[in-house]
Amino acid sequence: MIKKLIQRLFRRREDTLQTGPAGPKGQAARRGRLPSEPVRYSGSTEGVHREDVSNAALRTCETLQKAGFKAYIVGGGVRDLLLGLKPKDFDVATDATPEQVTKQFRRSRLIGRRFQIVHVMFGRETIEVSTFRALQTDAETDAHGRVLRDNVWGTEAEDATRRDFTINALYYDPVADVILDYHDGVKDLRHRTLRMIGDPATRYREDPVRMLRTARFAGKTGFAIEEATRAPIRELAPLIHNVPPARLFDEMLKLLQSGHSLESLRQLRSEGLHHGLLPLLDVILEQPDGERFIHVALTRTDERVLDGKSISPGFLFATLLWQQVRVRWNARVADGEQAIPGLHAAIDSVLEEQGAELAIQKRIMADMREIWALQPRFERRSAGAAQRLLEHLRFRAGYDFLILRCDAGEASAELGAWWTRFIDADSAERQTLLSEAPSGGAARKRRRRRPAGRKSDEGTAAPQNQEG
Ligand code: ATP
Ligand code: MG
Repeated sequence: MIKKLIQRLFRRREDTLQTGPAGPKGQAARRGRLPSEPVRYSGSTEGVHREDVSNAALRTCETLQKAGFKAYIVGGGVRDLLLGLKPKDFDVATDATPEQVTKQFRRSRLIGRRFQIVHVMFGRETIEVSTFRALQTDAETDAHGRVLRDNVWGTEAEDATRRDFTINALYYDPVADVILDYHDGVKDLRHRTLRMIGDPATRYREDPVRMLRTARFAGKTGFAIEEATRAPIRELAPLIHNVPPARLFDEMLKLLQSGHSLESLRQLRSEGLHHGLLPLLDVILEQPDGERFIHVALTRTDERVLDGKSISPGFLFATLLWQQVRVRWNARVADGEQAIPGLHAAIDSVLEEQGAELAIQKRIMADMREIWALQPRFERRSAGAAQRLLEHLRFRAGYDFLILRCDAGEASAELGAWWTRFIDADSAERQTLLSEAPSGGAARKRRRRRPAGRKSDEGTAAPQNQEG
């Protein structure tokens, strides 16, 4: 009975749509023409309510609308709400120019060059507000068709048409409770299809990063990639080389922090987007000894993100490059270098090489260095060393990293379990733990033999054997 009712309801809604997945509207966009009128849905009927959007996003829309502008929530926020997922953040699109936007909000600033937007700040939340963009018919491009500047303002319909996927081109007005759909995005959502707006090959040429986005959204939603959207990727993959490294870094970071990193990486591989194209991906996928570690690390990362927790870029990249550090560290120690200077030299060489190649920001590299440098200190379990480590500003990140190494079988499970107990123990329990610790005495003995001038709480543990 209820099932029948739902089926009837669903059929009625389908009837009201004027177009199929490859209907006239989709075809118009494929030919580069603009759709005339959007399909309008009631937000609440589709299960999207204004209570679901953040206060900051709602206030941004209300303020702009009160000042006489159009303002919608767009992109991933609307898509995720329609999918019943909790959006990561909310973006707003408006017909106000960036200057007009900044005038409406006390705490806001204009950012970006290639793509100018305004950040509006409410407490700890930032809303990205972008002005409707025009279609890029005679835009400034590089020799391969990559658009270099994208700051020509346009209409709402144009803005919708230059977005990447139909499911990312939905406009939700939380004040009027309306969703505007210019490209059958709602229908594609229902059919679980990832479809590029317009001619996919042209869209990939304009911006090759869109190929990575295809893999990311397929990984995230589990949707099937429409054939015409999938087909050109293999041939156009080398265009990724023309994208500035910093932009690739940002997009790869989004992919790795999506909560679906393993699935997205699998997608990248199956679309032929990995080998030799993305330096970071080579690092991740082509480590004969590190596969288990990376797998455990990305699985944990996905779990954390899906649990609503954040994962810092520094921690993430520390995990991705750790095997390289280990290999170089082991080689140095095998050559007779002492453990700690050997570790620091290995860190320097990895950061110097990969930092530039991957365009990792200095701030992130500093975090990675700290997390790595803390690792040998976990081996030293004398009362003083353990206490000092516990008080270290980055102890938590270092400890999380240690647990990862334990889970991957690279550090002993005993060590991780010991620290887990030590953190929560009261002082009597801590005494017991310290007296039970296997390396407490050894560390003290070794310290006496250390040459003068070295800092007393530096670890002494040599790198562990490679176990893969
Ligand atoms: P997420 O939830 O991961 O943030 P998102 O869809 O919001 O996903 P963003 O990278 O935040 O992704 O981009 C916001 C919106 O801007 C997208 O939904 C899409 O409409 C548009 N967009 C972003 N990057 C591109 C691009 N390279 N080409 C075309 N449109 C894009
Ligand atoms: Mg977003």
